[in-house]
Amino acid sequence: MKVLKFGGTSVGTPQRMKDVSRLITSDGESKLVVLSAMSGTTNTLVEISDYLYKKNPEGANTIINRLEQKYMSHVDELYQTQEWKERTRQFLIEEFDYLRSFTKVHFTSFEEKVVLAQGEIMSTNMVTNYLLECGVNSLLVNALDIVRTDKNAEPDFNYIKEKSNEMFNANKGYEIYIIQGFICRNAYGEIDNLLRGGSDYTACLLGAAIQAEEIQIWTDIDGMHNNDPRIVEHTEPVRQLHFEEAAELAYFGAKILHPTCIQPAKFAGVPVRLLNTMDPSAPGTIINNEFQPGVIKAVAAKDGIACIQIQSSRMLLACGFLRKVFEIFETYKTSIDMVCTSEVGVSVTVDNLSHLDDIIDELKKYGTVNVDRDMVIICVVGDLNSKNVGFETQACQALKDIPVRMISYGGSNHNISFLVNASDKKPTLQALSSTLFKK
Ligand code: ADP
Ligand code: ASP
Ligand code: MG
Repeated sequence: MKVLKFGGTSVGTPQRMKDVSRLITSDGESKLVVLSAMSGTTNTLVEISDYLYKKNPEGANTIINRLEQKYMSHVDELYQTQEWKERTRQFLIEEFDYLRSFTKVHFTSFEEKVVLAQGEIMSTNMVTNYLLECGVNSLLVNALDIVRTDKNAEPDFNYIKEKSNEMFNANKGYEIYIIQGFICRNAYGEIDNLLRGGSDYTACLLGAAIQAEEIQIWTDIDGMHNNDPRIVEHTEPVRQLHFEEAAELAYFGAKILHPTCIQPAKFAGVPVRLLNTMDPSAPGTIINNEFQPGVIKAVAAKDGIACIQIQSSRMLLACGFLRKVFEIFETYKTSIDMVCTSEVGVSVTVDNLSHLDDIIDELKKYGTVNVDRDMVIICVVGDLNSKNVGFETQACQALKDIPVRMISYGGSNHNISFLVNASDKKPTLQALSSTLFKK
């Protein structure tokens, strides 16, 4: 069985929902289909939550009413028969009444997660109703019964595997199984989510859990491009990536994939294909275990990075110094991305800034601490095995006019990373594209 995930734009209008329905039923094969919320909905639910946090029920109600009108207008466009129009309208009335009920309660992060979950709950109900109206033998599966995170907020893979296989055993013979992306329960049974863009993660977790034949991520672009198409002009799709190359690109900012979604697919050895809903016959990108030697594949950028430098002529390189430094980050559950050491100092980067001040205070015990905020990691991915000569030189040569704060090379065979100021992000990405991918 294949797992197909459709993102927000792919189900963003009634017409797109119809197109997706046609696409998933065209070959008659049974599929597990993961859906995001309609595009813009999760952002609107975040906005509603912001008003509720600020104890502004009128503000929240205005946005809820506007969203309700939009959804209600989709009903007439999507369904043919009065029966399905009425059923879906009734479902949406209950949904929006439920959202309005949050204006009357004390609003915490727990309520926020319940509010955010409604986008995927609405889109999956609407598409399943459409499929049923069209006579497709389809089943709506509740992600809250199958996807769970553990006490560290990491997916509980054994649970997901057990529950998804149980679900298929108990519900044999459907053509289409529809499930919500993004939403899950946490270790305490509360409604939670896999963070923004998390539907990709749901698809890869489920694909790995049921040992799918393939995981397909359908979005609004023809696969992984060799640079960020939102910033650099004339980027090109990359036809094939190794799991590790894709994992690095996703983690270091290629928005087409959730940062950690490739890991489960990689461990299960299930290939991931990135495809374009707006151009279904385009080849897209296949992510698998094959490695193409001698090729630089793509560049990505991760924003919002802080760089912390600790200098200590006395203690650095003394046994255990780095351990003590890293333990401070561990205490504050802050993971480190890049590390560079020298005789008298060490620099590290982090993207979680929530405990930065506490970390800095503790690091001061060990030396002089300098912090640069508003930095960007630029990651070049491909065959960067140290046995090759020339590729890292080409990447460095491209940046000859850019002030580079840190360089990290040799951590894996697939990556060289540069840390630059946020203001230099665009020229850095452009310079790398014109040097590494020139025709
Ligand atoms: P979805 O809603 O389907 O999950 P996303 O907006 O999350 O879609 O991801 C697709 C978008 O990712 C593209 O429209 C594109 O602007 C952006 N993107 C950023 N970097 C890349 C890249 N290297 N290759 C392809 N798309 C990228
Ligand atoms: N709807 C969620 C979001 O907008 C999850 C997703 O689309 O992947 O982040
Ligand atoms: Mg996405």
